[in-house]
Amino acid sequence: MTVVNETHALLARLGVDAKSYTGGTMASRSPVTGETIGSLPVTSATQTAAMIEKADESFRAWRMVPAPKRGELVRLLGDELRAAKADLGRLVSIEAGKIASEGLGEVQEMIDICDFAVGLSRQLYGLTIATERPGHRMMETWHPLGVVGVISAFNFPVAVWSWNAALALVCGNSVVWKPSEKTPLTALACQAVFAKAAARAGGVPDGLSQVLIGDRSVGEVLVDHPKVALVSATGSTRMGRDVGPRLAKRFARAILELGGNNAGIVCPSADLDMALRAIAFGAMGTAGQRCTTLRRLFVHDSVYDRLVPRLKKAYESVSVGNPLTSSALVGPLVDRAAHDGMQKALAAATAAGGRVTGGARVEVEGPDAFYVRPALVEMPAQEGPMLEETFAPILYVVRYADFDEAVRLHNAVGAGLSSSIFTLDLQEAERFLSAEGSDCGIANVNIGTSGAEIGGAFGGEKETGGGRESGSDAWKGYMRRATNTVNYSKALPLAQGVSFDID
Ligand code: NAD
Repeated sequence: MTVVNETHALLARLGVDAKSYTGGTMASRSPVTGETIGSLPVTSATQTAAMIEKADESFRAWRMVPAPKRGELVRLLGDELRAAKADLGRLVSIEAGKIASEGLGEVQEMIDICDFAVGLSRQLYGLTIATERPGHRMMETWHPLGVVGVISAFNFPVAVWSWNAALALVCGNSVVWKPSEKTPLTALACQAVFAKAAARAGGVPDGLSQVLIGDRSVGEVLVDHPKVALVSATGSTRMGRDVGPRLAKRFARAILELGGNNAGIVCPSADLDMALRAIAFGAMGTAGQRCTTLRRLFVHDSVYDRLVPRLKKAYESVSVGNPLTSSALVGPLVDRAAHDGMQKALAAATAAGGRVTGGARVEVEGPDAFYVRPALVEMPAQEGPMLEETFAPILYVVRYADFDEAVRLHNAVGAGLSSSIFTLDLQEAERFLSAEGSDCGIANVNIGTSGAEIGGAFGGEKETGGGRESGSDAWKGYMRRATNTVNYSKALPLAQGVSFDID
């Protein structure tokens, strides 16, 4: 079966209407072969505005449904995702180029966040606070926020929506999603799976979850619309620099999940076998196209010559190939621009004195598919392209002698998403996690930078945008907080002892 035929068969099984991916002007292509696999009608600005109005109406009904009942819808969504896991995972592999286990893993993450959100639907707790006034009670109440706009990147085409949607829905909001223009078919599939869950749940207002198809201009309509209370935007720092101020201008809420330039430190006491595997997965997995991909590595002088030659071997031998027909560990880059960006960064690294292992294009599926051998670059110092995120499998490696200097270099980039240290020395590990250590939103010990679990809050600092999604108390970002004080006395004492007596 051709990739196109398989895609259409998967979409049909997942319940997607063929009209939504044929006969339109926006092409979806598979990075696996470079083939066009869908032609989608684009959502116009007028249609977008109407869909947002619909979402607002839907929100007004949904916010009155008790939260545990809202959780029931998300439980059914998790159920439907379990049933659709194989098909949806395969579609992720086709449209985003992920290897089979990563495509399935992404759907598993959706199931996990649904489970989390179901529990959460009975735990949207507010505080009770001691008041200074007799006969009074003070408390916090959390209320639904409104329409939640989700903008997502190509590299997690389904999980990012679910992180946002599962929380937003149990919190009583409606969701309007603008997926990446590179991965619209997986979004249509998610919407079809949602529709099955909604039909089973019954009583779900129309327009509770909707998908907009188009490029950034469609995203801009969502960002600027006064009825969208929160926009959770995942993508490049360049995108966040545009979206952030536009939301701030109209005082809308923002959850920004932007680029990373993640690093690891390998200390003298590190378990090098463990470090090697974690580094290999973190740097080469998903062909270097994760926001949490390991991009910079600082290796202590005393272990450099034991670790780096082994790493180079892994780079030379890792299997690169078609993720649909082989068990290769490294699939394709998303498109030609990603390939060109990688070659540009490698040329700049060479000019800065870097020694490159790998990085060349690998012929796998003809001229329209862009496969590369991952690149390891030994740099004399942290400079040039190492300071920026290049969304491709390039790992820059630098020697260090002094722990404090390694931490300083670690933090000396714009992004602040994920970080890791490999050490068996308790003091080094704790210092890395302390206030003077890693400045990232995610800091790990003896684990790589990528592959976070949904139970923790996910996101990063500085140019990564500061947003948090997924677990812990990230749900608070999707609700509004009211402080309520109730006077059950017969007097009216004012706070701070103020008196204001009128006759
Ligand atoms: P991108 O910034 O090109 O696009 C992301 C999304 O934003 C797309 O849907 C796009 O249409 C939309 N968009 C772009 N400009 C916009 C604008 N001005 N207004 C409204 N919408 C706009 O990113 P990409 O190439 O799809 O993804 C790769 C990037 O995403 C990397 O930088 C990666 O680190 C980042 N990323 C971050 C996280 C995270 O959680 N921090 C997760 C995944 C990816």
